[in-house]
Amino acid sequence: MTAPSGEQPTIAPVTDLPGVGPGTAEKLERLGITTLGDLLLHLPYRYQDRTRSVPFDELAPGTECLVTGKIMASSISYGRRRSLLTRLGDGHGTLTIRLFHFSRGQEQSMQPGSWMRCFGDVRIGPNGLEMVHPEYRLHRAEPPPARAELTPVYPATLGLTSGRIRKWVGAALERCEDALASTLPNMEFADLMKAIQFLHAPSNDQDRINAARERVVLDELTGHYLVMKRRQALLKRQSTIALPSGPKLGRQLLKQLGFRLTRAQAKTTGEVLEDLAKERPMMRLLQGDVGSGKTVVAAFAATRAAERGCQTAIMAPTEILAEQHFETMSAWLAPLGIDVGLLTGRQSAPERRTRLEAIREGQDLVAVGTHALFQAGVEFRQLALAIIDEQHRFGVHQRMQLRDKGRLPHQLVMTATPIPRTLTMALYADMDVSTIDELPPGRLPVHTHGAAMSRRGEVIDRVRDWCERGRQGYWVCTTIEEDEENELNAAESVHAELAAQMPRLRVGLVHGRLPQAEKNAVMAQFKAGEIDVLVATTVIEVGVDVSNASVMVIDNAERLGLAQLHQLRGRVGRGSAQATCILLYEAPLSAVARERLAVMRDTNDGFKIAEKDLELRGPGDILGTRQTGEETFKLADLGIDRHLLPRAVELGNRLLAEDETTAQTIIDTWGRRDAEYASV
Ligand code: ADP
Ligand code: MG
Repeated sequence: MTAPSGEQPTIAPVTDLPGVGPGTAEKLERLGITTLGDLLLHLPYRYQDRTRSVPFDELAPGTECLVTGKIMASSISYGRRRSLLTRLGDGHGTLTIRLFHFSRGQEQSMQPGSWMRCFGDVRIGPNGLEMVHPEYRLHRAEPPPARAELTPVYPATLGLTSGRIRKWVGAALERCEDALASTLPNMEFADLMKAIQFLHAPSNDQDRINAARERVVLDELTGHYLVMKRRQALLKRQSTIALPSGPKLGRQLLKQLGFRLTRAQAKTTGEVLEDLAKERPMMRLLQGDVGSGKTVVAAFAATRAAERGCQTAIMAPTEILAEQHFETMSAWLAPLGIDVGLLTGRQSAPERRTRLEAIREGQDLVAVGTHALFQAGVEFRQLALAIIDEQHRFGVHQRMQLRDKGRLPHQLVMTATPIPRTLTMALYADMDVSTIDELPPGRLPVHTHGAAMSRRGEVIDRVRDWCERGRQGYWVCTTIEEDEENELNAAESVHAELAAQMPRLRVGLVHGRLPQAEKNAVMAQFKAGEIDVLVATTVIEVGVDVSNASVMVIDNAERLGLAQLHQLRGRVGRGSAQATCILLYEAPLSAVARERLAVMRDTNDGFKIAEKDLELRGPGDILGTRQTGEETFKLADLGIDRHLLPRAVELGNRLLAEDETTAQTIIDTWGRRDAEYASV
């Protein structure tokens, strides 16, 4: 067989394999597989043990196993459903094989005296243990010993069975024998390829399987780190507009804020301003818990750009948040003579045109917006700084799209999901990190309680009492899937319910489907105290700032992850009043949900919560990447594998210093997609 794609068989398309046509290729693509290399890295998520035939007296119901026996009798039973029953014996006991669907040929082939080898689930039947529709094979004589390796089971998709995938993986393995060649001495699997081969057909040795998996994961994490490092190196060679300190508008801003900066705000602001003074583009992550006051730091940075006549783009993940940033920035910056504009996806055409013009002419020195700011047609006069709030919602791809005439602006990325240090070191290796590690003075930790759904009535009474005495509250509705429609229905019915139960209070409703103007109007009313209880979908999760709100109920809190719960709770406790958060849950709780709610009760510390969150999360749900659809890792699961991060960092640094070739090999293995933005 020829290798049409040259020396690198791993980048050959899957259609190179015999039996893979365009239809199959399309299905494989749904699994993220387009090349032979992707197939190699499509690792089994579990194994079937067909290495040993289990004697009939050792069979346990509920297990999946291989059995071998001699046919003793076979007959059709006419019970509630017709079925073909074949009785096997192996000298230790008997087992029934039951087929509901069978052909004439099958019926006749079950001849007493023949041997049968089956693989399937054992269950308890009407007459002892049985297997229903196992995979099976008939043999004239006693079949040979079972195979020596475990049988891989692959993540499959509609129309593609694990068995077919297994066949193609086998073919890809043959074609790519010497590819993916990174070699790391002093490990149980020095060659990456050896580890991969083993994982596709391992012996029944869990320790070695773990070692092989670890080897592959380490390669992947190191690959990610190396790509980040390379990007950082490229960035360092770029130049952008230096913004040294100017006519001291910053001092004026400080004076009119109405509060004093916390020590942490002053320190991080200093770090940002120092970066901005340089020609090298800033790439800084500003992390700070909900309510720690990150916006102020952004305002100082924007002011610095403005005093040099340069523009700042501030991007928020939702319209509500963009609107809020717009208001805050206008209030702070307009008095300094800095024009702030708002650009969202839902503005009218003439409105939009006016804004675009103001941005192009450089009249709007600060442009606040949603993803609309990324879109083609938005042209800045001189963009020097991009500030991105809540970066997990955007993802790296979009982050890199914002350039000005081919030049990268300084970038400040703000996140309220604190990221444990081991993670930032490895995953955000291309960024410098500033951390706001304290809250403004006078904040009281939110009191958090759990309440089972059976006490919902009581909770409603409590909220009514509080709000009748002047407090304001959120009632947050969640749904099982991330389904806007459902969430909306839930919110509407809760709104009706609360409005009926709280006749003396003003109950409002805000959700993602509301037209922008109405959303703004509702939020403005809530802010102004004209709404007492605001029923909301999780759209309020991010950033909304109403300092008088001191009560929050989260309906079906067991459905949310820790990060999201923490974000939501951060909406209250922003003023000086003691705030309360009630997590309403549907009993019985799963073990994980119980632990999540306990963490929420016990701490308000975002960093602790983030650590716990990592521990509790399911595979693949890393750092909220699911929300953005941005796939981060093929194999690594930070919940399980993060102990490997320090090793990946160390290894990556050593390779960069001593072994460029291996570094490049690893990047080529994992960084195909990342490499796009590595070429800044
Ligand atoms: P986040 O970090 O969650 O984005 P914000 O920037 O929205 O937090 O700030 C939360 C609230 O705290 C805002 O109302 C803001 O005006 C206020 N705030 C920020 N810094 C201080 C401070 N140093 N002293 C008092 N209040 C502050
Ligand atoms: Mg914020």
